[in-house]
Amino acid sequence: MCVEGKARLYDFCRQYGVPYKAITKLIVGTSKDQLPDLDAFRAASAKHGVADLQLLSGPEAQQLEPALAAAGVLLSPSTGILDSHAYMAALLADAEAHGAVLALNTRVSGGWVDPMPHTATAGGTNSPCSHGDSSSSSSSRGSAMGPVPRKILELHTRAPTASGGAAPAAQGGAELEVSRLRARWVVNAAGLHAVRVASTIADLPRSSIPRLYLAKGNYFSLSGRCPFGRLIYPMPERGLAGLGTHLTLDMAGGARFGPDVEWLPDPGPDPSAPIHVDYRVDPRRADSFYPAIRRFFPALPDGALQPAYSGCRPKLSGPGQPAADFLVQGARGGLGHGLRGWVNMYGIESPGLTSSLALAEHVAQLLEAEA
Ligand SMILES: Cc1cc2nc3c(=O)[nH]c(=O)nc-3n(C[C@H](O)[C@H](O)[C@H](O)COP(=O)(O)OP(=O)(O)OC[C@H]3O[C@@H](n4cnc5c(N)ncnc54)[C@H](O)[C@@H]3O)c2cc1C
Repeated sequence: MCVEGKARLYDFCRQYGVPYKAITKLIVGTSKDQLPDLDAFRAASAKHGVADLQLLSGPEAQQLEPALAAAGVLLSPSTGILDSHAYMAALLADAEAHGAVLALNTRVSGGWVDPMPHTATAGGTNSPCSHGDSSSSSSSRGSAMGPVPRKILELHTRAPTASGGAAPAAQGGAELEVSRLRARWVVNAAGLHAVRVASTIADLPRSSIPRLYLAKGNYFSLSGRCPFGRLIYPMPERGLAGLGTHLTLDMAGGARFGPDVEWLPDPGPDPSAPIHVDYRVDPRRADSFYPAIRRFFPALPDGALQPAYSGCRPKLSGPGQPAADFLVQGARGGLGHGLRGWVNMYGIESPGLTSSLALAEHVAQLLEAEA
């Protein structure tokens, strides 16, 4: 997904004018012990379709990046960065041009299979995670398996506050509008909340819903001039839940180190319980960043790191467990949930953005096969 997604993403950026820069990436072996690992990593990458990694010696790497300490590196010439907000705006504009409607401040709070699929049901709006279906029952596409069952989604919409967000019920005053949407095809792409959304759907078997682990990732920005012009990643270590503390650069030239892995408490099985993440970055976490960064950037000055921002990964594997892949779950197969016309997207953590267009194509094919 990532390899195919990368190629599609570059094409999309060019076609829709989304700003991007192919700034390349260095994957760094900091000691001679890691040189065989770099070679093994290159061979494994080639097997998975990444054939462009180049092995460079430490001195060759330092010619590219004089501030780097490295025994050897892998250069990835096709790695790049993009303006993710412009990318989302372009996707939205394209979707709207094809008839999609974005319903903001609207939450899917429950759902079930329509027990009377041939009766008209309320719902003229599309939810952010569903394809609306205002067609008549005569358009139901039949197949050897019979028509795809219609689903009802219950939607809770809150009036926006002056700042544009939805006011929580606890603050009072915010009108809650409850509506229902009838849909034949539903894609649950609710990110951190996808497991929660699935748990509220009466006709999805509970046994098909994976356990969610929350892993916050904190970033620290580098104050002062950044001496690097490429993304710098340490060699991935076995058993690590993230990619290790690396250097990311943004489109404006800002430099940040991260993300680390901070496991959050189990969100619990109650599907109605909201997931709360405290996105503030604890400045004390910098203590573990300095030694990790100095392994490849020894000249990092004391006090140069400032808390920046954080994100949270919806992980399908917990502490100490092997990394889990994305789980794009349709009706069929060993991991299938049995409800045709419904796709759950679980564990879409990094590289979910890079993979997004390939994932979308995969979902479309999955639904097509269930028609
Ligand atoms: C720290 C960090 C660094 C990352 N770095 C990279 C990177 O370098 N490269 C890369 O490719 N990826 C990266 N990612 C991963 C990437 O950001 C995600 O994979 C991607 O944003 C997931 O997109 P999504 O659409 O699946 O989920 P989201 O972007 O989370 O979207 C889910 C949407 O569903 C909505 N929603 C939730 N609940 C409901 C509900 N009940 N009803 C209706 N709507 C609902 C939410 O409001 C939201 O709009 C990173 C992630 C993190 C946290």
